[in-house]
Amino acid sequence: MLHVGINGFGTIGKRVADAVRVQPDMTVAGVSKRSPNFEATIADDRGYDLYAAGEDGRVPFDAAGLDTAGTVHDLVEVSDVVVDTTPGGVGASNAEIYEDHDTPAIFQGGEDPDVADVSFVARANYDAAVGADSARVVSCNTTGLSRLFAPLEETYGIEKARVTLVRRGGDPGQTSRGPINDTLPDPVEIPSHHGPDVKTVFPDLDIDTMGMKVPTTQMHTHSVNVTLESTPSAEAVRELLGRESRLFLIPETLGIDGAGKLKEYTRDAGRPRGDVWENCIWAESVTVEDNDLYLFQAIHQEADVVPENIDAVRALSERTASARQSIDRTNDALGVGR
Ligand code: NAD
Repeated sequence: MLHVGINGFGTIGKRVADAVRVQPDMTVAGVSKRSPNFEATIADDRGYDLYAAGEDGRVPFDAAGLDTAGTVHDLVEVSDVVVDTTPGGVGASNAEIYEDHDTPAIFQGGEDPDVADVSFVARANYDAAVGADSARVVSCNTTGLSRLFAPLEETYGIEKARVTLVRRGGDPGQTSRGPINDTLPDPVEIPSHHGPDVKTVFPDLDIDTMGMKVPTTQMHTHSVNVTLESTPSAEAVRELLGRESRLFLIPETLGIDGAGKLKEYTRDAGRPRGDVWENCIWAESVTVEDNDLYLFQAIHQEADVVPENIDAVRALSERTASARQSIDRTNDALGVGR
């Protein structure tokens, strides 16, 4: 049984902890929090050992009546692998702690790529992380694009990719984010940082990206154009993508016209927090003109990186024979694709 510590129990961290909990080969060693807010009480309700990460140590937790098991150093000590889910940029300042304890660590997409030995997406480069000391699970958008590009590159070859990313303004809990009544080119510079980030996973890929921000908290939407090195039919592309376990081709018959109904669908299905772990590709949008493929996909920013973190834990700890075995095990335990 792998003991996995989660440092930073926020939007991503709480989902990773719950995903670890249902894996047959992992257990939650504990989670760290800076303050005894509502997420700390949820951690306590779940039975996760709480470790104090703030400068005031356990004092605010004692005041709130929450037991703590120690500091972040103590959490790292009892962990075989640590998943660092602190806010972007904080992970890099924690790297020394993991190195001092000789504990493999997984960072998130808010960190610069050089924080870790490898930038990771299970479907694209699982083997590169096997036995590494650290991995960076790339951002939600980069994860979504890499899952799509992997089968396209393997099967047809990619000459050039162009993507416009229509990004949610913030997560539901990020009450200070926006815009609340505008449509922003964001970043205004072209290409946006997303293309270079995809190249940390596919170094040879020719890709240009443009970003926008809009007033929604639901999901990101990508408008994708990939110039392929061959000319498959749209039906062949649909079949190829439909075989991928973390790509969901939304059938026209479901009547799902956007992220709102997608989230409603996963809530109705009883998914935890209504999470959508898969890329959601509108099947009828898959179009091929000569060797140009076009499609729309939606990405649930709070959820798609969660199964990738689980696979990264297995890759670093060298406990699983192959990418396929880890992906299948993660999917089965979480319910990805169901
Ligand atoms: P968050 O703010 O929701 O959660 C971060 C948690 O870490 C909070 O509970 C915070 O109190 C805690 N924290 C802050 N400083 C800490 C410290 N020094 N030690 C321990 N805990 C500390 O952030 P998030 O959205 O979960 O993002 C975490 C990482 O995941 C970032 O790198 C982000 O870029 C990446 N990411 C976020 C999303 C998303 O949409 N939310 C998607 C993909 C990747």
